[in-house]
Amino acid sequence: MDIFLYIIVFIMGTVFGSFYTLAIYRIPNKIDITHTHSFCPNCHHKLGFFELIPVWSYIFLGGKCKECKQKIRPRYLIIEILSGITLCLIAYAAKISFWNLNVNTLIDIAFFALYLSGIVIIAGIDLEKRKIEKSVIYYALGILVLYIIYLCIVDTPNIYRYIMYLSLTLILLIIDTLNLKKKAKTSYVLSILILIIIMAVFTGEAVTILSITMTLLTISFYIILEKLKQKRSKVSNSEKKICNNLNIGFYLTISNIVMLIAVMYIVR
Ligand SMILES: [Zn+2]
Repeated sequence: MDIFLYIIVFIMGTVFGSFYTLAIYRIPNKIDITHTHSFCPNCHHKLGFFELIPVWSYIFLGGKCKECKQKIRPRYLIIEILSGITLCLIAYAAKISFWNLNVNTLIDIAFFALYLSGIVIIAGIDLEKRKIEKSVIYYALGILVLYIIYLCIVDTPNIYRYIMYLSLTLILLIIDTLNLKKKAKTSYVLSILILIIIMAVFTGEAVTILSITMTLLTISFYIILEKLKQKRSKVSNSEKKICNNLNIGFYLTISNIVMLIAVMYIVR
């Protein structure tokens, strides 16, 4: 019976994945993500219903646009499949089954899916443009507020923890806005801090600390590799320059998802 549930979860994951690729492309390019019909970025041909089905459309079209035969980047397929697998892993770790589905579990799943969408889109844009998109941060903040309201309604204990995190996020946003007036550039570091707070709310402090540790290890490893590469090619870049190119938001998100799944399986 549960196999059907996991097939549904996988399909949902691929649909989310398809939306992520769209949002990661459109948000930095200032294209509307809900009202504009999906199109081929090369010939602008509007995609038909069958071309919109995740994974299958890529396989059926042989990885090419139907009209202009321009190759579609395999990245789309990979993100869709990964997203499906990740959602299945999380659902399995959370012991979700047809027998224990109730309204509260479904609401928790919905909030978690919204959170996951936010951080994945942040990570994707960071990897492409090395920028934490403010609109996505506001989106995540909106989810956080809705989640707190929901927790108040169901009368969860320790609501103060969430309110504390929310206040902290608001303070950082105010600092960032003041900073913006002075420098006309949002601060990358402040956005990363806000991302960490939102992670702490939705995945807990322990997972967040593990995620930060894994990110720091990855970054150190990356810097050492860069230094070694430079030694060989005799071009020297300062550490500051290497650090300015680090996609911290991307590493943090991947670490968060990996650590969350790992911790869920350990305590399962
Ligand atoms: Zn095309």
